[in-house]
Amino acid sequence: MPAFLCTGCGLQYPISEEPPPICILCRDERRAIPRERHSWTSQQAIRDTHFTVFRRIGPGIMGIGTQPSFGLGHRALLVRTPEGNVLWDCPSFIDEATRILITALGGVAAIALSTPLSYGAATEWSHVLGSPPIYLHAADRRFVTRPDPVLTVWEDEAVEILPGITLLRCGGHFPGAALLHWAQGAEGQGAVLAGSSLHVTPGGLLRFMRSYETHIPLDALSIRHIQEVLEPWPFDALYGGWWDQVIPHDARLALSLSAERMIEALSNPPAY
Ligand SMILES: [Zn+2]
Repeated sequence: MPAFLCTGCGLQYPISEEPPPICILCRDERRAIPRERHSWTSQQAIRDTHFTVFRRIGPGIMGIGTQPSFGLGHRALLVRTPEGNVLWDCPSFIDEATRILITALGGVAAIALSTPLSYGAATEWSHVLGSPPIYLHAADRRFVTRPDPVLTVWEDEAVEILPGITLLRCGGHFPGAALLHWAQGAEGQGAVLAGSSLHVTPGGLLRFMRSYETHIPLDALSIRHIQEVLEPWPFDALYGGWWDQVIPHDARLALSLSAERMIEALSNPPAY
């Protein structure tokens, strides 16, 4: 029996004979996919057509994604630290080559997830990699489709999961949307891993949305809150959840410019 994968969002469900009647994430108003358009597959079914790719993203950080693109097409990030490696977000597909490569790089001490859109097959990734804990915020626990002892639900506004690796609840896109602050990232200047919580524009700015797919913007208070959450944390680089979403330098300035522009646009609609 397979653990079914939603082809729309990539979320993995428990092992079962029949696919679930709906995908709870695709039915959520942030995606709003009609029930009749939900479809299913499994890791076994795509094993001959998909494979995992790896790419160095920056100093001490590597991207891990699926080709051809699957689900929402997001990629994971492996952050390497002297105290252990952290896997940030999970694709829906993991193969033997991935296990061998990550193990050779020191394995994974912890997995952490930004929003339910990046949960993928997180429980299976953990099991394949020796069952490290998976950190996800309590405010989004209703999107957990594969309950498992490896899931570590955190409830505060911040939690340090390894020395210099801190999860910050920024909210906005989802109530429990999180960022990962890596103190030694960007060659010691600090890095923020945004996953699917924030998106990077082609021009190197940030988008703050309640729904990126149905284009519902975030309100001004929530945007200000994200700025406040990041205020105490030094950073120069910001890595979004997709291959092309990287701000290698001056990311705090990009955050400030992006927030001011969007709040201005929300506050001053044009007069007609
Ligand atoms: Zn789905």
